[in-house]
Amino acid sequence: MGYEDAFLQYLVNNGRITAPQLAEAEQTAERDHSRPTNQLVRLGSLGSEELAEALSAYLEDPMVKINPSGISGDVAGYVDEQTAVLNEIVPVQISDNVLTLAICGPIDVEAAEMLAFKTGCTIEYVVCTRDATKEAIRELYGHDLASDEGDSGDMVQYVAGDRVEPPEGVKVDEVNVTRLVDEIVAHAVKAGASNIHIEPRMDHADVRLRIDGILEDYKVLPGEQHHAVVSRIKILASLDIAEKRRPQDGVIYIRFGDADVDFRIATTPTIYGEGVVMRVLDQSKAAVKLTDLGFTEKDLAVVMEALEEPYGFVLSTGPTGSGNTTTMYAMINKLNRSEQKIITIEDPVEYRMDDINQIPVNHAIGTDFAVLLRSVLRQDPNIVLVGEIRDSETAHVAVQAALTGHLLLSTLHTTDAPEVLLRLMEIGVEYFYVREVVKLIIAQRLVRELCPNCKTDYEPTPGDLTDLGLPPDGKAALKTSAGCTSCRNTGFIGRTGVYEVMPMSPAIKEMMAPDIPLIKVRQGAIEEGMRTLWQNAVEKVLAGQTSLEEIRRAVPQA
Ligand SMILES: [Zn+2]
Repeated sequence: MGYEDAFLQYLVNNGRITAPQLAEAEQTAERDHSRPTNQLVRLGSLGSEELAEALSAYLEDPMVKINPSGISGDVAGYVDEQTAVLNEIVPVQISDNVLTLAICGPIDVEAAEMLAFKTGCTIEYVVCTRDATKEAIRELYGHDLASDEGDSGDMVQYVAGDRVEPPEGVKVDEVNVTRLVDEIVAHAVKAGASNIHIEPRMDHADVRLRIDGILEDYKVLPGEQHHAVVSRIKILASLDIAEKRRPQDGVIYIRFGDADVDFRIATTPTIYGEGVVMRVLDQSKAAVKLTDLGFTEKDLAVVMEALEEPYGFVLSTGPTGSGNTTTMYAMINKLNRSEQKIITIEDPVEYRMDDINQIPVNHAIGTDFAVLLRSVLRQDPNIVLVGEIRDSETAHVAVQAALTGHLLLSTLHTTDAPEVLLRLMEIGVEYFYVREVVKLIIAQRLVRELCPNCKTDYEPTPGDLTDLGLPPDGKAALKTSAGCTSCRNTGFIGRTGVYEVMPMSPAIKEMMAPDIPLIKVRQGAIEEGMRTLWQNAVEKVLAGQTSLEEIRRAVPQA
């Protein structure tokens, strides 16, 4: 509110109103729980036009005449009716992530910040008269400000609209809650967290962050703060704050400097109150390059070659969270040339890419992978990314797509690369089709990289050497790390991929038959030169990039 006070003082200092007029307006405002600025107009100390002029001069923002019929529904969608009405603001333009608002009085700074936070836009202002605002709000939102004259311009009302509801008898400073949520969110982004977990306990809530795949404690919220923080997050994600018994999903879009970060919110009712998980999606990661993912040069060459194939499957496999999606995006970026039409079908679309047609799966209306893939094939694409192949229907459409000249990228969830071939047969793809369409399979895991600041040499035990495939009395220079402040005492900073890259060689094709045992396919692939996940991981240990301990944790030993 400091800003309104400063503006009122400016009016007095510039002789627009007298000190007694200000005092009267302030008194009335306090009695009516409304804004002194509005009272000045109501009491006749200042005309509505004069107020707008003074505000324009004070803010050094231009005075404009707004033409409600010239404002598109798109622009109006940036500000919801309640925010527009309570703050008497009108969104007039959106361009390059700058949202221009027409205001007719000093706007609540908190409200403006919240709007910037919600929309991910930078906010700029123009000033217009209150009458023009009223007319525009009536036109855009069908809300008649005149009918609730008297309390509509009231700041407290605005907060009430978006009020964080603490439990009875507990006072929670709303400003502090806003800051606390900002702080949690900003910290998570800075630390490179993939998820923020707010987990209710009996009398408090734990805030934990998943960083490089590992959950770390971050903060403890006392009970009353927990409820306020959850409500604040729900407001930002436009969720129903009154509904606490059903899970809800939403998204918050935030801009940090140049980075756009989406937070996908999922609330869960627990016996101790609502829990929240926020998935952090830094949109700059959509620009990931294949060369940055930790492939060996040889594997990279094999991958690049497969991407030149005019049709067929290029598949990536691993448990959830092993970086398959990132690999797919890197491939798309590699393939993204103007003469190729690329369509993705994703569940959900998490990263937005330039020049790519991305389609989200929507189970609620029955548009699953198979349905969308069928329709996408009529769009004449060259390359299609299908988020996942997990059922026979999708698999069949995908095979048809490949056989009719499309390159298909997709993921499965198997332990290793050879197993993908068997999985495809399990879900009903005939072995001769598997032989025909599969071009390349990449199995992968993510391992944490040792902190360069605190990593040290260590003497491996005979058991360590055996795991590394070396003679037990041999020698190897291994690294470990104790942890320091720059790695938050974890000993690791960042992650890299370990891969099992398996091209469909003539020998493997030849092996495809119903009931072929996995072990035979795996053996065949190794004979064809495939480096297993474990072997690739060992190479990274011997290179001092990660530790033996870490690959034992994250990579299947085979
Ligand atoms: Zn360290």
